Amino acid sequence: MRSSRDQQSLSYPLRLPDEVQADALRLLDVSREVINAVIVSLWDRLDEFGTRTNTYAYKQVEEMIEPPVMHGHRQWRCEAEQAGRILRSQAERKKQFALILPMLEQGMIRPKTEAKRAGKHRKAIKQALTDLREANSDGGNTVELQSLIEQACNFYLTNGCFPDTYEEMQAAPRLKAGILPYAGDDGPTMGQSYRLSLDLEQKQITLALRTPDETGTWARTWREKTIQMGLPEVVLARMKQGKTLAPSLREIIEPEGTRYAVLDFILEVPAAQGAAWEDMDTVLGFDWGVRTLVTASVVDLDGHQVGRPFFLDTGPFDGQQARTRRQIDQLQKKVAFLEAQRDRFALGDQKREPTTRKLAVLRKEIALCWRKYEARNRDLAHLAANVLLLLTAVFGCHFIAGESLKSLKSTGRGRDTKGKWRNWRNNSQVRGEFWRVLRYKCFLAGVRLEWQQPRETSHTCPHCGAPADTYRSPEHLSQVEDWGAWLTCRSCGWNGARDYAASLNIARLGATFIVHYLTTGRYYHASIADKAVKPLSYMGSGSALRLPPMVPRNHLLYAGRMFINGWKRSGALCSSYSSEAMFRLCG
Ligand SMILES: [Zn+2]
Repeated sequence: MRSSRDQQSLSYPLRLPDEVQADALRLLDVSREVINAVIVSLWDRLDEFGTRTNTYAYKQVEEMIEPPVMHGHRQWRCEAEQAGRILRSQAERKKQFALILPMLEQGMIRPKTEAKRAGKHRKAIKQALTDLREANSDGGNTVELQSLIEQACNFYLTNGCFPDTYEEMQAAPRLKAGILPYAGDDGPTMGQSYRLSLDLEQKQITLALRTPDETGTWARTWREKTIQMGLPEVVLARMKQGKTLAPSLREIIEPEGTRYAVLDFILEVPAAQGAAWEDMDTVLGFDWGVRTLVTASVVDLDGHQVGRPFFLDTGPFDGQQARTRRQIDQLQKKVAFLEAQRDRFALGDQKREPTTRKLAVLRKEIALCWRKYEARNRDLAHLAANVLLLLTAVFGCHFIAGESLKSLKSTGRGRDTKGKWRNWRNNSQVRGEFWRVLRYKCFLAGVRLEWQQPRETSHTCPHCGAPADTYRSPEHLSQVEDWGAWLTCRSCGWNGARDYAASLNIARLGATFIVHYLTTGRYYHASIADKAVKPLSYMGSGSALRLPPMVPRNHLLYAGRMFINGWKRSGALCSSYSSEAMFRLCG
């Protein structure tokens, strides 16, 4: 869903009533087949989708192809719309691939030696990304580009050469769960594949869907078979602010295989106005850390720290993820063992049967674990973004400063499962997802998000600005350790957690950014060594915390929704494990 700078699309999935589930799923199955067929047949014309000839994707598809099967013209247009949307996003990805193609050289792959298997050369990838990044971007693109480079490297590891074309490494994507956007039809009252009316008084939706029956016949009387659904308050409130767009029908498949259909009720609402620069008197700086997931501090423009730092500790979560990872490893070992056992018998031998059956069960279990693992990671990204926004609301702060994603920091430590998870957490999907979510939520909330140069932010004293060393802990000050958790300043004596120091320094950079803008009207990203970056003359000021009551460490947080100044949706802590995440307040 695309939207202009000041409009934002919100989508609310409403589960369809049980009596129409079978019909809706049948419709989605039929549509999915058509959509996949269209994608496959247009895959060799992918480039044409790099240019938008029309707002609607279906018009572009209609110009290129006849429907593979015809179930009514408007039904076809909705299918063509979805196929076109997928092809357009693939065309965008292909354009990015064209950017990385010249960089795909052998240097990215570590050659195989006696001791090690061939692998990806992380340093070369990082260098390539550094070369590619644009000077002014916030680095969000970097995440997409990195995934493309990794995909290309995996291709190399399998085939011994880089792909010549995008299509060589990326097969035509296939929709696994059905989706049918009604944007291709003529609207809620004139629609020929759906009809929808809203009763705001009764808070009700009346819906009719044109679907095939068990025999595949599309009945003419579909408009008479209406269903009623309640309209949630939150949707009603949003409807008053904006405009209702064509809904989509979508299939949801649960990890254990049950599936059901929802109607995505889509609204376009004006996004909150960004705060005026003159009102920005504090900055929330955060560090995406190695040990503590997120550390946040607030400073004002005069070099005072406001309130206490905030640490989002994911200890129990890390353990949970590590356990799932270990479970996956163990299941994979079992699979290898059973495969060897099965292969003792020739193909077609009846004795292969029992192991083959067991293998199917195991593979399903592995897939389930992965899904659980990934879902938790997504939840974590949402939680971290929500916490930061909650803090801005608490401190009345309109500006968040974060470390640029361009610094793909790797700790290069931790070969055990927990370490593996932590490295992964720092480098890839979680950070990318976190960045996307945070940017989107900041936009909705009218909070300005600016990325700062991360260089040396964890090796600089926030109090006096002098370069400072890090150590394993306050008890180990005799030996400097680059990745140490403790920072001690030899010039002024300040010491504290390294992540905490980094969050303060990033906030200082943000404050410099605001001051520079207010005086010159220009954006400027200072580096931490810059003279303009104010040292924090007064730290840990006693300003009252407008925070919820302090929660002692190890105390479980309540789960559920969080409401911030009436701004509900974005503040929702809708994660399945939020009760396990801990909030720690330190003075
Ligand atoms: Zn110092």
